[in-house]
Amino acid sequence: MADIIKEAGREIPVIKRAHVLVVGGGTAGVPAAIAAARRGKKTVLVEQLAFLGGTATAGLVTPLMHNNIKGNPSPSGINSEIIARLLDCNAAAVDSSGNDGWFDPVYLAFVLEQMALEAGVDILFNSFFCSAICDGGVIKGIVVENKGGRGAILAERVIDATGDADVAFRCGAPFASGRPGNGINQPTSLRFEMGGIDFDKFCRFLESLGQKGEMSPPFFHTAMVWGRKWALEPIFRQAVEAGDLEERDGNYFQAFGIPGKPGCVSFNCPEIEPEADVTRPDYQSHALVDGRRAILRLVCFMKKYFAGFENAWLMHGAAMLGVRESRRIVGEYVLTSRDILTYTKFEDAIARSNYPVDVHGAQVECGEFEIPIVPEGERYFEIPYRCLVPKGVENLLVAGRSFSSDYVGQSSPRVQPSCRAFGEAAGIAAALSMEMGINPRALDGRKVRAIMKEAGAYL
Ligand SMILES: Cc1cc2nc3c(=O)[nH]c(=O)nc-3n(C[C@H](O)[C@H](O)[C@H](O)COP(=O)(O)OP(=O)(O)OC[C@H]3O[C@@H](n4cnc5c(N)ncnc54)[C@H](O)[C@@H]3O)c2cc1C
Repeated sequence: MADIIKEAGREIPVIKRAHVLVVGGGTAGVPAAIAAARRGKKTVLVEQLAFLGGTATAGLVTPLMHNNIKGNPSPSGINSEIIARLLDCNAAAVDSSGNDGWFDPVYLAFVLEQMALEAGVDILFNSFFCSAICDGGVIKGIVVENKGGRGAILAERVIDATGDADVAFRCGAPFASGRPGNGINQPTSLRFEMGGIDFDKFCRFLESLGQKGEMSPPFFHTAMVWGRKWALEPIFRQAVEAGDLEERDGNYFQAFGIPGKPGCVSFNCPEIEPEADVTRPDYQSHALVDGRRAILRLVCFMKKYFAGFENAWLMHGAAMLGVRESRRIVGEYVLTSRDILTYTKFEDAIARSNYPVDVHGAQVECGEFEIPIVPEGERYFEIPYRCLVPKGVENLLVAGRSFSSDYVGQSSPRVQPSCRAFGEAAGIAAALSMEMGINPRALDGRKVRAIMKEAGAYL
């Protein structure tokens, strides 16, 4: 059999036209679409799944990380609105450190959809971005594949919010991925939720093992990583010795409470071995199968070994593999670990954070720097607008975890609060650059910053 087949040329109907087209309705994509639509732009949002939220909903990733800046100020006005909506329906809660980012991922999908529709966003679900319409280095639209076949969507500005920079990649824009030297990405995880847990019993069990700290649902948190002195370590060791767990099951285990869901826990595990290029379809298929096997192992283990889990059940397995890091665009500015660790500020900043460098699965080297566990305080670093502007393609912006950075520089701003701010900034920039009749590359990011600040961002 030949290794290549030739696809016949064909005519593709134009199914939609937009001012701003957002590809990917996830953490960054929804704020991007809302921000563009609120500036009066005809905005289309394309999503491969049947609901919005991406990693935060389909990936079951909760809670939002505290940004470690005193008072946890919101990086974006739209982020504050999302949280307020969730709080209103008891699907979010504020802990004693002021983190208002504890939320229910299932509810979030409904809130995001309502907000996008209220802003006037035209959502196209179940539609997979499959190629970019790029002419002479200028993006003109995309082609999607769905139940109706192939269709083209044309737009003045495109925002790539696919997480993996799929659109930029298909346009031939330069990118980097993984650790310098070997290209290995951070480990992926397949998250899950369990219900029916007797929390009082489980908390007493943890206390009897020596765990300290806040243990009142929904702010419940526990973890286990071999050698880090977690209270659960002897239980994990016992289960490995009895053949109920594999050694790798204790490489990273973490559990959080979920607001509005008494007796339920969200698990930030199992972690799946990393590889160079976690976007490869065969890696993703392997990771999903391997992850589900590990979930079944962990569920059986907890029911057998954890007091309070006797009647617990598996509630959800994530519909999406949790990818921490894959393609990173090469943009007009590349954020580095040095920028983070020296608290660098930028005039065109569109987000601030003090969340620490957070690379899973590997010891990282940061040149002359020690990697600190950053205390909550007044210090912070900033991410400039230029990190969203990819080199090599005009009229394209990239928002989300694939923003322009080096490997370690990505590991802090990849968390949801910053991704939401990147989305809002990209939506404003797409609209504003149209209004001014200039390319997003020529746009002064200070203008985006000023608009975000006016709309409630801590900038
Ligand atoms: C396991 C794990 C745990 C984490 N823990 C935390 C945490 O506790 N707190 C925190 O704040 N952050 C955490 N993060 C980080 C954070 O959740 C992600 O980095 C962030 O949500 C990524 O946002 P994004 O917009 O870039 O991508 P996503 O939210 O994944 O959005 C991408 C969207 O694009 C869609 N899409 C992709 N390709 C296509 C295509 N070809 N066609 C159409 N649609 C497409 C996807 O379906 C998705 O909806 C974690 C991440 C992982 C993986």
